[in-house]
Amino acid sequence: MLTSSLELIERLLEGTMNRKTAQKLRRWQHEWQSRNANTLVLDYVEAETKLRFNIQREARVQVEHEALFISSTKNIDNDKRATASTVSRVEALQKELRSLSEGIWHQERKLDVVHARLCSLPIRRALVSCHKDKEWYLSEWMRADCARREGCCARECGCCRRPQHRGHCTAACACCEQSRGFAVTGKDVWEPGKMAWVSIENQLNIYATRLRDAYFFGL
Ligand SMILES: [Zn+2]
Ligand SMILES: [Zn+2]
Ligand SMILES: [Zn+2]
Repeated sequence: MLTSSLELIERLLEGTMNRKTAQKLRRWQHEWQSRNANTLVLDYVEAETKLRFNIQREARVQVEHEALFISSTKNIDNDKRATASTVSRVEALQKELRSLSEGIWHQERKLDVVHARLCSLPIRRALVSCHKDKEWYLSEWMRADCARREGCCARECGCCRRPQHRGHCTAACACCEQSRGFAVTGKDVWEPGKMAWVSIENQLNIYATRLRDAYFFGL
């Protein structure tokens, strides 16, 4: 009874353009009754980060693949050794593209599963409400977080506003790599999600709590 009354208040607030207050009310309910959904929160953030990484990496590999494919067809009879090495690189890139699209498919399914597992919890209503705004990820905190990691929000390039970038920069962002001057590899690839994943079950650390508020509540 109490839950349905609170849902009604949320709807009234949303209907009167008070989405932020409705989201704060959902966050209060989440803190109060569904803390054990915190593992799902981290699963969601992890899947979304990996999805974004794969999409940004795919864009970068596609550019290299196209350029090499064109040069391999132009120089086909000139330098046989160079052509052979270009062909093998093209094949490696094609293999990586297949594995990236497989990764994208898997992470999208994982997001669907987490979404379904959130059932009728207040945090699910918050997520649906937050993502009604296509620019939800351009909140002040998320842009500052991207800039802190020296992502494109720290520069004037505007990459994070482009739909094909799918959000803020990951280690796979080609523009960031160019600005940094080196590629990020190994475990560092998964920063910033890594900082949240050290949370103990049912207890998010400060950074994970901020990520949760940004991802689910738009706060
Ligand atoms: Zn970037
Ligand atoms: Zn950029
Ligand atoms: Zn950004």
